[in-house]
Amino acid sequence: MQIDQPMFDAKAWKLTVQQQDLTARARDIGQNKFADRAADYDTRAAFPTENYNDLFDANLMGICIPKDAGGEGADFLTYALTAAEIGRYCGATALTWNMHVCSTLWSGLLSDDLEMDSATRALHIKNRGVHYQRILEQRAIYSQPFSEGGAAAAGTTAFATVAHKVPGGWRVNGKKIFASLAGHANYYGVLCTETSDEITELSRRNTTYLAIPATAAGVSVEGPWDPVGMRGTVSRTLIFKDVFVPQDATLMPPGIYFQAAKRWPHMFMTLTPSYMGIAQAAYDFTVNYLRGEVEGTGPVKRRQFATKQIAVAQMRIMLEQTKSIWFQAMSEACANPSKDQLLRAWTAQYTTMENANEIAQLAIRTCGGQSMLKSLPLERLYRDSRCGSLMLPWTSELCLDMLGKGCLYEPGESDE
Ligand SMILES: Cc1cc2nc3c(=O)[nH]c(=O)nc-3n(C[C@H](O)[C@H](O)[C@H](O)COP(=O)(O)OP(=O)(O)OC[C@H]3O[C@@H](n4cnc5c(N)ncnc54)[C@H](O)[C@@H]3O)c2cc1C
Repeated sequence: MQIDQPMFDAKAWKLTVQQQDLTARARDIGQNKFADRAADYDTRAAFPTENYNDLFDANLMGICIPKDAGGEGADFLTYALTAAEIGRYCGATALTWNMHVCSTLWSGLLSDDLEMDSATRALHIKNRGVHYQRILEQRAIYSQPFSEGGAAAAGTTAFATVAHKVPGGWRVNGKKIFASLAGHANYYGVLCTETSDEITELSRRNTTYLAIPATAAGVSVEGPWDPVGMRGTVSRTLIFKDVFVPQDATLMPPGIYFQAAKRWPHMFMTLTPSYMGIAQAAYDFTVNYLRGEVEGTGPVKRRQFATKQIAVAQMRIMLEQTKSIWFQAMSEACANPSKDQLLRAWTAQYTTMENANEIAQLAIRTCGGQSMLKSLPLERLYRDSRCGSLMLPWTSELCLDMLGKGCLYEPGESDE
């Protein structure tokens, strides 16, 4: 079997040694293991458990855990490049792995850039160490359910899932929809609003981020999961009914998520690498298919037709444009980005999510009828790619909305 080339060539994109190493590890398990399993997970809408065993074995579950805590210490771009390589072979694995990694990225690198008093930071470092050791030593999987079906996941209202202060911790009540890894993660990293006997009003400022054990009393998984794409994510509904969560379960101290969403907005771009990988995979498939080189599709060559050459040219243009702006936005992610950087982040998010689907649909049109048979990966890439623009809080619609306003208005300006 031919070994796939890196999505981002080390010399051309000036990758560090660590980036080359981690992306190579991801490509290796992706091409040799995940690619063959993807159709089965998709058909059964089943969680990719075997892939997670491989991710643990390749030490990729701790990719964003700081080095001094035993992880790989990958930065934002390095993680994104690695996740994109996984997305080429199994979108559902890349997307769910993203949820797991975010619990370490947000509590790690991101939190290190945010303001906390020294006592809060010391406690945070102690608490996150508990989560990191669970991942590294007990092979624990984390997920990240924040969606509730309303405006909270869009970032405009407080989460309706409530963590009420009680002696020794919190009592959590609420519901999360589209909770990827439901029934398969060991800990659910739940965003909820903290209340107390004194403070009962829900405020976004009081958002807290708690790791709730899947086995805790009062936690249940409900409902079916039979979507059009990203079927292996198993994003069922989670219910929390009077769940007691101890004090040391915090992934971020109270109030810090609110600060992160404002000051480290690129955090929401972590959903894009899966779709960047899908875009690359749809393009690669098309080239191989038109050259008559896809296994099991016979010796027919289709590349000699001018219309197909033009379509592939269009796909290549779109892929290069997407990779360039995505790489740039991922490279410049930081605390307190400038307005220009934020507008570029929204542009990159929109471009990646929309173009992944556009490239996949062009791929089917160009390759032709036999290419969309279930025996080939293209139709799955097409269905998976459709999900990208729906991911809150930066859906394609919300990106357009924020971009339009951001381009025309400066802070404080209004026409009312
Ligand atoms: C495959 C897949 C996996 C997912 N995994 C996870 C996961 O692990 N964790 C998680 O938390 N979520 C996950 N999601 C959920 C995702 O991020 C969204 O929250 C979900 O798709 C929203 O569905 P909805 O129908 O409620 O959206 P919508 O109805 O589009 O939006 C919900 C609310 O957001 C606000 N809103 C939406 N659009 C606009 C707009 N244009 N302007 C203003 N307000 C707007 C509105 O208040 C609206 O009622 C996943 C989704 C998919 C497809």
